[in-house]
Amino acid sequence: AKADGRGVHRFFRSELLVGARSRKQLEDDLRTALAQDQFHVAYQPVVSTKSERIVGYEALLRWDHPTRGAVSPAEFIPVAEECGLIEAIGEWVLRTACMEAAGWPHDVRVAVNVSPIQFANPALPTVVTSALAKSGIRPARLELEITEGVFLNDNASSEHMFKMLKGLGVRLALDDFGTGYSSLGYLKKAPFDKIKIDQSFVKGAAIAGNRNAAIIKAIVTLADTLGMETTAEGVEVQDEIALIRDLGCSHIQGYVYGKPARAAEVLRQLAAADGM
Ligand code: C2E
Ligand code: CA
Ligand code: CA
Ligand code: CA
Repeated sequence: AKADGRGVHRFFRSELLVGARSRKQLEDDLRTALAQDQFHVAYQPVVSTKSERIVGYEALLRWDHPTRGAVSPAEFIPVAEECGLIEAIGEWVLRTACMEAAGWPHDVRVAVNVSPIQFANPALPTVVTSALAKSGIRPARLELEITEGVFLNDNASSEHMFKMLKGLGVRLALDDFGTGYSSLGYLKKAPFDKIKIDQSFVKGAAIAGNRNAAIIKAIVTLADTLGMETTAEGVEVQDEIALIRDLGCSHIQGYVYGKPARAAEVLRQLAAADGM
């Protein structure tokens, strides 16, 4: 756990949920959640720095536990990955997000997080194809967010998976860029359309003398050269918008433009944006 208050809090909460005694319980609860519709998808706007309009939403899984209340995906996704439930849950998210995006204007994209475990399963392209077909959305409206964890998989099969997914016409984004080992070799190997710059680089970037701005600038330069878009994540305050735009990021995502919200709220946001 991190040394700050938030990190410590997370450590204890996580122990509470994932600790040996409650672990099995959490697994059972996750199974029930899927069967009894306790999940929903929240959507967070992604805004173009150029047009300042919403061009897409990221789908973020939410679990309303009957007694524990809202459980963070940061808590239960790792458990779902370990107990083999992530594939069923991930498929549910993909289907739900595509179905809900089908009700949005046809130029608004939806981004869905894909676990490295889903990515390692040869069935993923079939799952994606089926979600696209059932919802009727164009493949180019779907963006799959992948973390560098996928590169820990066997090389040949991950290369094959990238080809298959690109072949379907969906977009690929490299999530949380800058957090893990971030070998630049990943960027060469995989056909990403977008790099998502982790929020840890956005924090403090607007403060004079902060090095994060220089790091963001370097990532953007690299992405531009490779023909990839960039989203700055976790943008919380107005001051950061101008800076991020000046640093050349093509997209902004963060509380400054909206917290993750339910599908019905998204429809209201889109209707309001349309009337602007
Ligand atoms: P992520 O993919 O990096 O998602 C961004 C996280 O940052 C979300 O947390 C979002 O609510 C939060 N965020 C957005 N803007 C701001 C901001 O301005 N300030 C701050 N402090 N935070 C902001 P969330 O929804 O709790 O999700 C946490 C992580 O759980 C995600 O990180 C992702 O790794 C995972 N996750 C969520 N949904 C799914 C899913 O459907 N499938 C998989 N495999 N993972 C998921
Ligand atoms: Ca993400
Ligand atoms: Ca991220
Ligand atoms: Ca993250």
